[in-house]
Amino acid sequence: MRKIIVQKFGGTSVADTDKIKNVAATVIKEKKNGNDVVVVVSAMGHTTDYLVKMAKDLSPVPSGREMDMLLSTGEGVSIALLAMAIQAAGYDAISFNAMQIGIMTENVHSKARIIDIKTEKLKKNLAEGKIIVVAGFQGVTEDGEITTLGRGGSDTSAVALAAALNAERCDIYTDVEGVYTTDPRIVPTASRLDEISYEEMLELAHAGANVLHPRSVETAKQFNVPLRVRSSFKTDNTGTLILGVDKMEIYKPVAGVASDLSQARIVVCDVPDIPGQAARIFGKLAEENISVDMIIQSYARKVSHTNDIAFTIDAADTDKTMATLNSLKKELNCGEIQLNNEIAKVSIVGAGMIDRPGIASTMFETLAKQGINIKMISTSEIKISCLVEKDDAKKAVKALHDVFGLNSDITAEVKGDLPDV
Ligand code: ADP
Ligand code: ASP
Ligand code: MG
Repeated sequence: MRKIIVQKFGGTSVADTDKIKNVAATVIKEKKNGNDVVVVVSAMGHTTDYLVKMAKDLSPVPSGREMDMLLSTGEGVSIALLAMAIQAAGYDAISFNAMQIGIMTENVHSKARIIDIKTEKLKKNLAEGKIIVVAGFQGVTEDGEITTLGRGGSDTSAVALAAALNAERCDIYTDVEGVYTTDPRIVPTASRLDEISYEEMLELAHAGANVLHPRSVETAKQFNVPLRVRSSFKTDNTGTLILGVDKMEIYKPVAGVASDLSQARIVVCDVPDIPGQAARIFGKLAEENISVDMIIQSYARKVSHTNDIAFTIDAADTDKTMATLNSLKKELNCGEIQLNNEIAKVSIVGAGMIDRPGIASTMFETLAKQGINIKMISTSEIKISCLVEKDDAKKAVKALHDVFGLNSDITAEVKGDLPDV
């Protein structure tokens, strides 16, 4: 039986028609290798950002449904153009959006999860020898409503398709040559990793390494999809393989450093210290589908018997979160609700930090030496995150990358323009 390869190309890789021709050539090369090819593409260049900006110009809190109607159009443009480019090069290709295939998601706007992918149409067209081009990032509910998977979600579309089709592997083509020890835009001497485990990559992606959408790594791990991150522009390079590593022992305590500048911190002040308050706050936020990251509850004050509950959220959820908390204020009988957008989360990740004391203290000392104040700390078995001032994030990443010995002698090549961070 022929092998199926899923390839995914991000926004920078399809930013203009020359780049789309380049993508068509990479796709055709895989087809010529004798494989069946399913290609997933994102919207061209900064299209999605531009669509978000237009929506915000018209409405401070646009409806989730209309937002998904709008954002899903970006990918619609790139699939048709790529299919045309492949056809123009003499190969049979057909484009599909999520609705046409049946990329079924839950009924949630802006960060829907995929429930199921119908494969009949895909298999039929592959059997006819066609290269299939699929719109990433979008899905459809049972009721025929359009949804999107969250920013960066095309990676997840690609991995989910690879899982559904039992593909040989999923190749994520992007504007860097693989997964690095940190964002090469921040530290140009970051080292490219040949391999990284699903677990470490998942933590790095959650910590802000946006080279892969966290849910794509989760899905790859769950369905054992071999996942590769590689360059769109140097396609002979093998990039980084994300897989279930089972090395006996890991010698480097830290595999990578990441920063996330798109978080906001909320503090609910003076919450009466009685049972059920945290359940009230986080239960209501969960109902609104708002994900919470770091959480700290202070010790109850002796006289007032109140405490402060601080947590971080995705900055995109700020308005919704504030509205939800304000509606709870009476029930909680709490004080002020504070918002701080000028924060960033800086994390170190590594399976090698398990049972190695001293990693956390090295992190805190390094930040202290840079004069960086830590506002919150959270840990998992293989990750330590510190919340710092947004302006300190780059300095923190560079210092941590240095202290844990992650630099290489080679300067990483990054294509495409700089993101607005
Ligand atoms: P695409 O449009 O192809 O999906 P993204 O911008 O989403 O590309 O992801 C690629 C970017 O991820 C790189 O340009 C790089 O700046 C950033 N990045 C952050 N952390 C890392 C890391 N550890 N390794 C590689 N790239 C990283
Ligand atoms: N176009 C979407 C975004 O910019 C999805 C993606 O690129 O993965 O977030
Ligand atoms: Mg991306």
